[in-house]
Parts: sequence; structure tokens; C-alpha cells
Amino acid sequence: MNNSNSYRDKYFIAGIDIGGTSTVIGLVDNNNQIVQRKAIHTATYEYAEAFFNEICDIIKNFDQLSDISLLKGIGIGAPNGNYYKGTIEFAANLRWKGVIPVVEIIQQKLPEVPVILTNDANAAAIGEMMYGDAKDKKDFIMITLGTGVGSGIVVNGELVYGHDGFAGEIGHTIYNPNGRLCGCGRKGCLETYTSASGIVKTAVELLIRKSDDSELRNIPIDELTTLHIGNAANRGDKIAIETFDITAEILAVKLADSVAHTSPSAIYIFGGVANAGAVLLEPLTTYFEENLLQIFKNKIQIKTSALPQNDAAILGAAALIKKEL
Ligand SMILES: [Zn+2]
Repeated sequence: MNNSNSYRDKYFIAGIDIGGTSTVIGLVDNNNQIVQRKAIHTATYEYAEAFFNEICDIIKNFDQLSDISLLKGIGIGAPNGNYYKGTIEFAANLRWKGVIPVVEIIQQKLPEVPVILTNDANAAAIGEMMYGDAKDKKDFIMITLGTGVGSGIVVNGELVYGHDGFAGEIGHTIYNPNGRLCGCGRKGCLETYTSASGIVKTAVELLIRKSDDSELRNIPIDELTTLHIGNAANRGDKIAIETFDITAEILAVKLADSVAHTSPSAIYIFGGVANAGAVLLEPLTTYFEENLLQIFKNKIQIKTSALPQNDAAILGAAALIKKEL
């Protein structure tokens, strides 16, 4: 029968994007389509074991996955994920402290299934490279702006892992040594200014310091999000616009420094904060050009990711397995 061949070729990969707030588990078929997905709240799980056991159950219960033997592997993007060791180590934005042996925990539940793990921003970079705008690019940087600030750095067509698997931590390069306290224990990391909570903090500082009218004043401070600030900025709210202007300048300075290290042809901005659009991207591009070394000026594109939110991270995580097939 003709169908038997296509049935035999059919396979699935689970792509998992672990974030500080939520985690998305996607089932990707052999045509790179996400055929099913489910989100869970990362922070509600007190223990990592319970969290990863739940993920295994979700994968096993995907109705599209009629037979577990069709699952070719599980790819995971996670904060502080270590590609070499299969661990999450000392992630500032996760509840579980220390070293979490992720691959080991999953393989106790699903012993036959290969598991590969990397940093969440690395997974997004691979997603952009395999399915997005970076298909023809050999040198680019992916910056993820969300609960934390991550980065995936591609040089000569290869993701940079470094000697120990931790390369690409632009979010924890220091913008101001006397600045805000970071979740990593140091002061003034880029993440403390350009993560979602960092941007909210900047807005709150402006609301306190300035007397301008702002629609943000109608929202209780502990409920304020980057979505509120983005929407307000797009409606012309002065405080919200200034918040993004300050954020853009700080991000631009650090990105201009990053360019000096790897000379990328493009930088992609990915994650919830990037959805604010031109209110972030326009000042970012202006400050970026201002801060670049002369030899790099007017050569490097700054863009938002071409892949829909969540998809890049899921597809990128799945691509970790696909590369090995
Ligand atoms: Zn830090």
C-alpha cells in the first residue's frame, strides 16, 4: 500500500521551551509543523522532578502521538541549560536552585528517547537559523527579552557553546557596576534593565520622579507589565515612551559591544518585550548606530524575530534533535 511508506516515515519530536514564568511543550512533526502544544506554569512546581515528570506525562498523552516509538527525541531550551551536561545550572529566574540533572530525570521516565538540552536563547537562535529569517546568515546574535535576557550567538554558521557549554550570556554582562541588583548576585547586569521586570522598574522610577500625566498611573504598581507600557507608548504616553527610550539606549550600548566581539550581520530581538514594536526598535536602532565602532556602522540589521512567539523556541529545541537524525 502507498500509505505504508509515508506512515513509516512519519515521526515526531517534542520541543520544549522552559521559561521563568511558563513552559511550552510542543509536538513537532517531520514536516516541522507544531501539531500540538501545551503550556504549564513553571513557577508553580516546587520540585524540578515533579515538573519534568509532568512534562513527560504531557508528551505521552499528546493524542497525535499514537505510539511512543514515533517520538525521535526531546529537545529542550532552558535558562542556563548546559548542552554538554544536560543540566540546568544556577538559573536565576527558576525556583529550583543548584544543578538540575534534567536529561537524567527525563530518561528515568522515558528511557528509550534521546534528550538534548541547551540554553533557551540558543534554541531560539537555532529555530531562527533553520526556519526563520537567519536561514542564509552565518553570523548573527539572537537576544531574548522576557523574564530574563538571554542570547544565542552564531559564528561561522555554528552556535557558540564555549568550553563549558555556557557561552552567550549577554544578559549578564554588566552595564553599570553600581547599578541594580541582579538575580545572579551581582550588580548592574543588562538583564536588570531590559528584562520585563527591569523595564517595569524603569517605568515605576519615572512615574515617581516625574509629574507628567500617564495612563500608567491608573494601574497598581504591582500589576504593571511591559504590555501595559508598550500599549501606552504606542498611544503616545510620554512616560511609557521614555521608558522604552531608556531601555533601548542601555540595550544598544551592550549590543554595540557584542558586535565588537563577533561582527554579526544581524541581531534578532525575540520575546514578549519585542512585541512592543517600533517604540523599542526605532530608538534601539538609533542608539545602536551611535554606539558602534566606525568600522561596523550601517552594516548590521536589528530586527524582531521572523518566527511567531514561542514557535522559534519550540522549533529550535526540536531542531537540536533533528540535527542528530
Ligand atoms: Zn546578572
